[in-house]
Amino acid sequence: MTRLIFLGAPGVGKGTQASRLAQKVGVPHISTGDLLRTAVSQQTPLGSKAKAYMDQGQLVPDELVVSLIEERIQEPGAQIGWILDGFPRNVAQANVLEQLLDRMRQHGKQVINLDVPVDVIVQRLLERGRADDTEEVIRNRLSVYQSQTTPLLEFYKTRDQLETINGNASVEEVEASLWQAIQAQPEP
Ligand code: ADP
Repeated sequence: MTRLIFLGAPGVGKGTQASRLAQKVGVPHISTGDLLRTAVSQQTPLGSKAKAYMDQGQLVPDELVVSLIEERIQEPGAQIGWILDGFPRNVAQANVLEQLLDRMRQHGKQVINLDVPVDVIVQRLLERGRADDTEEVIRNRLSVYQSQTTPLLEFYKTRDQLETINGNASVEEVEASLWQAIQAQPEP
């Protein structure tokens, strides 16, 4: 049973690794960024509310993201496990997730922190060139990450669920260390 949360700044390669790993172990890859971008492009009411925040590199309000995740993680396909990418992004979201998983009687998960130096991250994001990858928005996202998301490292460390992996290597090398870290952990 794979239940995995990916933490890490924008640009560390969470999406790439989460998607490869999800394929390999056969569980859904749940990315709040992707879910939100889909909502924006389909111009759903939620998407329209989220767009301005995303364009500025701010976090979308918790209630919007939480409703997306609650729905997605309770789908039948997610009963066999999941890999979360981009959620939780702050302590309030992490608490909501704990309660949700308790309610669903899903106990045991692993949290992977992909670690990459900031200057490498900025370079990668500028090269990626997504619509929200301008220098100013990138700076915003990084500072939001610092203030809102890094407290989660402590949150999961206290719960003994955190594993940090060096993400400053080739996609294949990171994939290999990730695989090792997952095998090394006991099944919940
Ligand atoms: P990145 O990791 O490069 O920032 P994502 O695709 O994960 O890219 O997220 C893009 C944007 O979507 C974020 O900048 C943010 O506005 C919004 N977003 C994604 N996940 C969340 C979340 N859990 N809470 C609030 N906002 C989110």
